[in-house]
Amino acid sequence: MAEEQMDWKKKYRELTHELELQERKSADAERQLRQLAGYLSVALEGESPQFDAELSQLKPLLQTGCVERLAALKKTTKRVETQVKSREEARGQQARDTVAALLKWVRMLRTQVQNSRSQNLLDTLEKRSHEITDKFYNLPTLLGDFIELQSHVETGTESDASLDSSDFALDTTASVDALGDEVRILLKHIGAELLELISGLSVPKDEAPDARALVKRIESGFELPHLPDIVHCVVKLVIKSTSNTSDDFENYLLELSSRLTEVQTFVVDSRHEQQEIGQNQRALDHQVRKDVKQLHHTVKNTNDIKDLKTAVSVQLSGLVRAMDSFKKKEEERESRLQGRYEDLIGKVDEMEQETRKVKAHMEEERLRARTDPLTGLPNRAAYDEYIVQEYERWSRYRTAFTVVVADLDLFKQVNDSFGHLAGDKVLRLVAKVISKNIRVTDFAARYGGEEFVIILPSTSAAEAAQAMDKLRLSLAKSPFNFHSKPVTITMSFGVSEIQEGDSLDEVFNRADEALYQAKEDGRNLVRTK
Ligand code: GH3
Ligand code: MG
Ligand code: MG
Repeated sequence: MAEEQMDWKKKYRELTHELELQERKSADAERQLRQLAGYLSVALEGESPQFDAELSQLKPLLQTGCVERLAALKKTTKRVETQVKSREEARGQQARDTVAALLKWVRMLRTQVQNSRSQNLLDTLEKRSHEITDKFYNLPTLLGDFIELQSHVETGTESDASLDSSDFALDTTASVDALGDEVRILLKHIGAELLELISGLSVPKDEAPDARALVKRIESGFELPHLPDIVHCVVKLVIKSTSNTSDDFENYLLELSSRLTEVQTFVVDSRHEQQEIGQNQRALDHQVRKDVKQLHHTVKNTNDIKDLKTAVSVQLSGLVRAMDSFKKKEEERESRLQGRYEDLIGKVDEMEQETRKVKAHMEEERLRARTDPLTGLPNRAAYDEYIVQEYERWSRYRTAFTVVVADLDLFKQVNDSFGHLAGDKVLRLVAKVISKNIRVTDFAARYGGEEFVIILPSTSAAEAAQAMDKLRLSLAKSPFNFHSKPVTITMSFGVSEIQEGDSLDEVFNRADEALYQAKEDGRNLVRTK
């Protein structure tokens, strides 16, 4: 029995000790919880008026022993639980509202930023905005980034925000010398491209000095480490000039179009003159129309200045190629034409020589036709031609002229006495004496048989009669020998000057009448009528 009592007492002491330990632990935990609740309530102060009211009631409960005020603590806990729930709901809504506002901001910025780099930055900002629901604490940083981009958009330096050193992924630390000539050539090429780009810009007035300085800087050449800065400056200039660049390109293209229209007009006009160019010109015409149309299309539909520049360059190159091709074809055609022209010149030369020959031949023929073969004097046909000209001259200028008809005296007897050949010889000799005794300006012809006609321009009948008398004497004195016997050959002359109202026949007939008179009067005489 005594052993049983001993066991029970031992167990009781052990339990008491265990209970004491538990109580101490509980008091410890309660103290820790009160302290924690105290800290949290301090942290939560200012969240909302209701919350603050609850917390002010909770504080004394936490400071005194909770066990005594357990009922009050339960009530307060219930109310705080409700407050916390509603506060969580409010925070959820607040986060959703914040995200919506941020996304609206993104959308607004998308319409304002200029380059693709900034658009990429906006993609990131949009993603981070969605994450704000769960990570509200990121809001201040996110807002900071939004504000930075917004401020660059406002000041027109958006590229500053979007472009960092990684945009120009060039190893600027590399030594230019180590890379050698290739880099220099590359830099020169890039410089030329940048200058080309700047030249296409419509730089605002107040940017002009900076633009000029930039052009000078590029033109004078630059080292690789300066490239990023130069590109940066060019990009800034492009952005500042972008608003009206498209218009300027359109104007330039309109100017080009008008010049090309002039070319077309020229092409169309000359087509009438040079049929052979037709095919080349039609091809160029077609090409030019197509290219100009394409250029207009490009200018209207391309917003990005770099794309526009590239597209326009490509199309202008196409135009230049078309013009070159046309020029080449034209040169070939011209060379062909030149060849044909030279052929033609050769042929014309040949033709001229041929013509000269033909003309000389015809002249010969004509002369022969107008020349008496026996005496070599002009014949009756020649006289007929000459007297018409003289008569016309007199009709126009009243320049007097005198007609002389001369006939060998008793020539029949010469023929009869010495033969026909001797008669011919006499005729030849008489022709020589006549030619010798008249002026160069006078005209003598064998009119027929043993009859001659002499026309003395600008000579009166009296003067002519005087001249003919000298001729008559000269003839009479000429020694004609037949079979060593001298034979006297004489000639009778009829003289008549053109008179007012005369026809050609009338003046000739008067001269003929005067000749008849000379025969009548005894021959070897000069008579005037
Ligand atoms: P008149 O003084 O009246 O003129 O007398 P004439 O003998 O000269 O006149 P006529 O008319 O009677 O004779 C002309 C002659 O001239 C006739 C012809 O034999 C000669 N005669 C004409 N033509 C030629 C010619 O070409 N050669 C030669 N040898 N004689 C010719
Ligand atoms: Mg006679
Ligand atoms: Mg006669």
